[in-house]
Amino acid sequence: MKFYKNFIRTFNDLPGHTTLLIHSLSGCLFHCFGCHNYDEIVAQTPKEYKTKEGLYTYLEKSGYLVDAVMFSGGEFLIDKIEEIEDLLKNVRARFDGKIIVTTCGVYCDKVKHLFRKDLVDGIHIDMKLPYHVLDVDADQQIFKDIMGITPTEKLVDNLLDSIDTVIKHNSELDQVRTVQYPILSDAFFDEIKSYVNKQKAYYNSNVPYYLNEFLYS
Ligand code: SF4
Repeated sequence: MKFYKNFIRTFNDLPGHTTLLIHSLSGCLFHCFGCHNYDEIVAQTPKEYKTKEGLYTYLEKSGYLVDAVMFSGGEFLIDKIEEIEDLLKNVRARFDGKIIVTTCGVYCDKVKHLFRKDLVDGIHIDMKLPYHVLDVDADQQIFKDIMGITPTEKLVDNLLDSIDTVIKHNSELDQVRTVQYPILSDAFFDEIKSYVNKQKAYYNSNVPYYLNEFLYS
């Protein structure tokens, strides 16, 4: 696994924590509207990058500066689960803070595996569209415009299963979040929020939900 050369310290990705944001360079299945990372991180592997060993050394020397690490991408869960597990176990062995993974939710088996084996403290998952009310045929263009993909029933089932899994996990360190894409009407965001609230009630969960402003690059 390779990582973007700069690890970034942030103060708002995990409320109440100082977080080290680490971008994997393994790519992404999607090509979302306005993705800030696409050109620099997803479409190609930069010539300069950090390795797993570079990350471990960084955490040993400077890990005390943060109390959480967050693995992002691209899609962090695109790599083989064995490699992801090895990385997260090594991070746990060197770092006392919280471990967070961000994902689009397409790999629901990996999401479940991370929780089952306690490899993460929280998962931040995107709900980019109201998947539960969209039709993979009739609404194909919406998926293309927002996520850059042609959807299938299986893919949508995986996305919803991952979102439910995060809601069920019910940690204050988890998040479900949506980018307020400017090409969608408010009805989309109302429907997403209503779905998340319904699932939270069903699972008796307090997982935070955020509608995040779309940032123009
Ligand atoms: S899932 Fe994330 S990294 Fe991948 S294209 Fe969409 S916004 Fe970019």
